[in-house]
Amino acid sequence: MSQTNVWWIRRDVRIHDNEALDSARQHADQLIPLFIIEPNLMDNAAPKRKAFLLQALSDLNRQLKALGSQLVVRQGPALHAFQKITDECEADAIFAHEDFTPFARQRDQAIANVFDLRLFPGVVLRHPKDVLKGDGDPYTVYTPYKNKWHEKPLPTPADCLPAPKTLPPLPVKIESDRLPESEPVPGFMGTAKEAQQRLTEFAKHNIRQYQSLRNRLDLNGTSRLSPYLRFGLISAREAFGNAQIASLQAREDKPRHEIRTWINELVWRDFFTTILYHFPFVVNAPFREDYQHIQWRQSAEDLQAWQQGQTGYPVVDACMRQLSHTGWMHNRGRMIVASFLVKDLLINWQSGEDWFMKNLIDGDPAANNGGWQWSAGTGTDAAPYFRIFNPVIQSHKFDPDGAFIAQWVPELSALPTAYRHEPWKLSKKEAEKYAFKLGTDYPHRIVDHAFARQRTLDAYKTARETTSET
Ligand SMILES: Cc1cc2nc3c(=O)[nH]c(=O)nc-3n(C[C@H](O)[C@H](O)[C@H](O)COP(=O)(O)OP(=O)(O)OC[C@H]3O[C@@H](n4cnc5c(N)ncnc54)[C@H](O)[C@@H]3O)c2cc1C
Repeated sequence: MSQTNVWWIRRDVRIHDNEALDSARQHADQLIPLFIIEPNLMDNAAPKRKAFLLQALSDLNRQLKALGSQLVVRQGPALHAFQKITDECEADAIFAHEDFTPFARQRDQAIANVFDLRLFPGVVLRHPKDVLKGDGDPYTVYTPYKNKWHEKPLPTPADCLPAPKTLPPLPVKIESDRLPESEPVPGFMGTAKEAQQRLTEFAKHNIRQYQSLRNRLDLNGTSRLSPYLRFGLISAREAFGNAQIASLQAREDKPRHEIRTWINELVWRDFFTTILYHFPFVVNAPFREDYQHIQWRQSAEDLQAWQQGQTGYPVVDACMRQLSHTGWMHNRGRMIVASFLVKDLLINWQSGEDWFMKNLIDGDPAANNGGWQWSAGTGTDAAPYFRIFNPVIQSHKFDPDGAFIAQWVPELSALPTAYRHEPWKLSKKEAEKYAFKLGTDYPHRIVDHAFARQRTLDAYKTARETTSET
């Protein structure tokens, strides 16, 4: 009897190192590479994230055609799409990579109740159930999680699966919807070629200085692979494998140490996925119960100033404008603006999480929630409540020449470096010299940091006291 399998593409937009595709094709006479446009996900996605994914799918389709196949696109919800497909051509089994968000798990359960759904590991390096404490509980603190993560056998570059040379044909009768049109996102070409080049380049050069450069806002010291990992244009395993090779090739301890720090970012990625898997309530609530009663400020005006990069704090504004223009923000920037929203403006971290998901090209529920809860001090492994970033110190430290500020806040670019960080310090005479008018050319600070710091410490203290009384 002829076997028809579906390769259900979700976060694995690639043909190489793809266990779901590899298993689906092996015993299939006919194969359907399927992407389902889930209205629930696509309608709410950041425009740049959506455009990146659509470009990646279009590029995947080109690769599939070269192997004698083709991408099949259908409208969701998934259950409905599969019912239609099985009516049309009697698909026998569905192969996909396991995803761990509450939405994905619920969706997959509903599909598995009706169809033969086979899930494979591969979105993360270690399955959320693979790194547990001795008593079987999940870790809630990163460092012991990381130590255990490293103790277990690691994949090697040889474990990566090659791309298939041919694919089984599509069933004759199957049709595809059109993939929606999209424009490429500047700076982030959604193609397999770009993904490979980026990884290879990074593994050859910058990874060897990652630990030293990763916090500099003005340098290209990080990999910028996040959207490629988000949608699986590269696999986590091959990213890890490239880092391993770089480490083996390094002759000294220093570059090896720098590379290890980058590998540990992949471990953070696994860690936050693990947290979301075991504690799915974090999508709607703080992980730490003692912070559920924080009295957040409601200020649409302040929230908007933050979103638009008009807070009067140059480094915060530069980062927020980088996000609006490119869809990406440096990790140090994410920490600075998150701390500012939550601890200077005392606005609920969930408003920031939401804005990031609406704008980030790499927006990922687990990493984003983890990053916000960490910054707010409400998360599993969070920055303590009293660690409140001073945006001016952060600015001097991580953009020492003010070059990053000059790039994204051009109204400050003509000022000498020190004033780019703190334009309010210009004397009247100096302001005249640079023809700069605070309040006209660039906004006054919307909040005084020292005042805001104390306000936040008080609010967090009250929240803890309220919890202990209830
Ligand atoms: C408030 C906040 C929100 C964030 N939201 C997201 C998000 O939606 N999506 C996202 O991928 N990352 C998120 N991060 C993590 C991090 O900022 C980005 O992964 C990183 O900036 C991406 O740039 P890169 O690819 O150059 O990273 P690199 O420094 O080169 O790191 C390599 C890869 O490791 C992973 N990674 C790195 N740091 C983290 C981290 N702290 N947590 C989880 N994974 C990490 C990413 O996949 C990244 O591409 C967030 C961090 C914060 C503080």
